[in-house]
Amino acid sequence: MESGPTVGVLALQGDVREHLAALRASGMRAVPVRRASEIEVVDGLVIPGGESTTMSRLLGVFDLLEPLRARIADGMPAYGSCAGMILLASEVLDGRPDQQQLGGLDVVVRRNAFGRQVDSFESDLDVVGVEGGPVRAVFIRAPWVEKAGADVEVLASVPSVGSEGQDPGAAAGRAVAVRQGNVVATAFHPELTGDGRVHALFAEIVRGAG
Ligand code: GLN
Repeated sequence: MESGPTVGVLALQGDVREHLAALRASGMRAVPVRRASEIEVVDGLVIPGGESTTMSRLLGVFDLLEPLRARIADGMPAYGSCAGMILLASEVLDGRPDQQQLGGLDVVVRRNAFGRQVDSFESDLDVVGVEGGPVRAVFIRAPWVEKAGADVEVLASVPSVGSEGQDPGAAAGRAVAVRQGNVVATAFHPELTGDGRVHALFAEIVRGAG
């Protein structure tokens, strides 16, 4: 019998496989979830990168919005990368009018915020709670956090100059990793770089909540 917590990865759309691999590499049991009955029993949930409007629509089609909102409101640990950050935010700017929010993070995010200058941007970022040097952050049509409530801890912000000297433009200084209680989100994709430290941080939160 395996013991210890199980983390689900919401498997409606997006980079599900990469998150499953990153969680397993950090020693977690990880399973794809797409039904309410599966969401009921996981000890934590990752919402992957992908397309938040598509995931939002599918959450509605499969009647997952309410079960998921209820579990997040009840304190289930959740981690969202990129599109996942958008879904966890309480408010989205530049979203689709019918786009649904899961809540959990008292933040206003701007969707495709980096896309106004460049479609993607990379930089090394110091992330609070991640030891051993900066994290390589890959932003792909990423959001940023435009406003964060008092209970939200900013874990990382975009530096004023990128690691290769790129000008981040209006992204400079924007919060791109946040935590509120058991809910964590990054605008970037640690699941794509082989650096497991952000998933390890989330694994710690899941173990601590269990
Ligand atoms: N732009 C996408 C959205 O709005 C997010 C992109 C991503 O997850 N890489 O959901």
